[in-house]
Amino acid sequence: MNSLLIDCIGELVTNDGRGGDPLGVRRDAALLVEDGRVAWVGPARYAPAAGRRVDAAGAAVLPGFVDSHAHLVFAGDRAAEFAARMAGEPYTGGGIRTTVGATRAASDDDLRATVGRLRAEMRRQGTTTVEIKSGYGLSVADEARSLRIAAEFTEDTTFLGAHVVPAEYADRPDDYVGLVCGPMLAAAAPYARWIDVFCERGAFDADHARAILTCGQAVGLGVRLHANQLGPGPGVRLGVELGAASVDHCTHLTDADVAALAGSETVATLLPGAEFSTRSPYPDARRLLDAGVTVALATDCNPGSSYTSSMPFCVALAVREMGMTPAEAVWAATAGGAAALRRTDVGRLTVGARADLVVLDAPTHLHLAYRPGVPLIRHVLHNGVPR
Ligand SMILES: [Zn+2]
Repeated sequence: MNSLLIDCIGELVTNDGRGGDPLGVRRDAALLVEDGRVAWVGPARYAPAAGRRVDAAGAAVLPGFVDSHAHLVFAGDRAAEFAARMAGEPYTGGGIRTTVGATRAASDDDLRATVGRLRAEMRRQGTTTVEIKSGYGLSVADEARSLRIAAEFTEDTTFLGAHVVPAEYADRPDDYVGLVCGPMLAAAAPYARWIDVFCERGAFDADHARAILTCGQAVGLGVRLHANQLGPGPGVRLGVELGAASVDHCTHLTDADVAALAGSETVATLLPGAEFSTRSPYPDARRLLDAGVTVALATDCNPGSSYTSSMPFCVALAVREMGMTPAEAVWAATAGGAAALRRTDVGRLTVGARADLVVLDAPTHLHLAYRPGVPLIRHVLHNGVPR
């Protein structure tokens, strides 16, 4: 029988959305996996027979983390830039061009090896779904190959040709936007599910972002947006207007931005690893949650502004620095990430969902924030397969 029973679960986080508890916690529970899907959830004493059995020994079991924002296709690192920033230099986003140079010079195999290494690192920390962006190629060929490689690791690939204007187009950004909307999009679209723009002073303004995102929508890509990270700006409201699945960062928001998000289907994805790594003020998650906005947490894993692959670290930061309760942070790192990717098959442990889960070395999800920096992931199941 191709079935696996996770038995003796002390605390099962289902995110089933029932009963006023967003985490849908069940105690003394069991969960049956068949053919990579959750087939049954219930009290341990009623657990059905299965081909194999894992004894959780009273530990907490959670949906695998859904990291909805990561930049994994790159070469080189920027440790020296990080050190300089910690010594007082400001973050401007200009270092992206350093990574573009290294990425263009790298072989396909080098890029593939880096994505594979980071993907494995993420899985060891409980991440079972990850979105991967391009954005360090910034030429037709390099963006297409970045997405082709990303697509070997995830179905949630994002075309971010509009990350920054590359040096060779520095004096003619309109021409670069034309390239992104034309031949680059045509080459990238077969490998992409999403399109994204870094809408920020020093990157792309609202007119450019709107042009690029609507071109992407016209060829069937879903919209997501880097917005309001370094200062206030039009990105969040543009994202809501275009029906973006998610606007990401949301560090500098006006009341109008918050109201627009609250009345929309757009998720606010917060990336506290970026504020940590750039020593910047954190976004105010409490304000968003109190307004009724759906909030997700993600790592923003990238070699410049947030070189962490750890969702547990982001959960701990969100609780300590952003006003989230541990339950809200765990929901945002699982179901919230799924909402940001418009996925209903992950981020929850309900019958029919993908059997993506983590068994913690802890009795409760509270330990993710209570014990920061501690490796609490004991087992990971991805598609029902132990990893
Ligand atoms: Zn990013």
